Amino acid sequence: MRIRYPKLRELKEALKAIFFGPYTSGYPHQPHHPAERFRGRPYFYKDDCTGCAACANVCPTGAIEVKDEIKNNKVIRRLILHWDICICCGQCQLSCLTQKGILLSQEFAYAVTENRQQLTTEIEKEFVCCECCAKEILPADQYNWLRERLGPLVFSNTSLLLFSLKLPVWRLPKIRVKKVNKNSSAKTA
Ligand code: SF4
Ligand code: SF4
Repeated sequence: MRIRYPKLRELKEALKAIFFGPYTSGYPHQPHHPAERFRGRPYFYKDDCTGCAACANVCPTGAIEVKDEIKNNKVIRRLILHWDICICCGQCQLSCLTQKGILLSQEFAYAVTENRQQLTTEIEKEFVCCECCAKEILPADQYNWLRERLGPLVFSNTSLLLFSLKLPVWRLPKIRVKKVNKNSSAKTA
């Protein structure tokens, strides 16, 4: 195809680059500062992670491995993040139950040449187990997260109730008692 007119837009960009410098950075000879919304290496934040594994379920490459196992007579969940197969898509951060259990950073240069095992990180979460059959129910931190939202409804499950009773009193759900107006009930009776 014949171009009838000079490519003015490209010419303008070339002139801008000559007078104001190139768009590209001088990395690796100079440090590179990614854009504000750049998606780089993700990190777990243990205190804000409940261990629900939603991030692992949405990860398109299977970069988040979930292992439930017994350790020191406790059932624990290990969440292992494999940076070597992570594509920094951000789906884990988007779907995180607490919105801050896993967050992408701006790190982009973390390749290794020898041992891929260096490109993993992991966190552990302890499970609440059934008092009768000892089967795992859900991670304790996920339970606590739910408990704060469910309030007294958590008492509908015996195992969760017993787990609640092991918590300090100030962390137990508050029970709201409905006030009955005796005068109004007498009128309607
Ligand atoms: S950023 Fe994407 S690929 Fe990487 S761990 Fe999260 S969901 Fe998986
Ligand atoms: S709280 Fe967030 S980071 Fe933790 S397991 Fe659930 S989805 Fe993943």
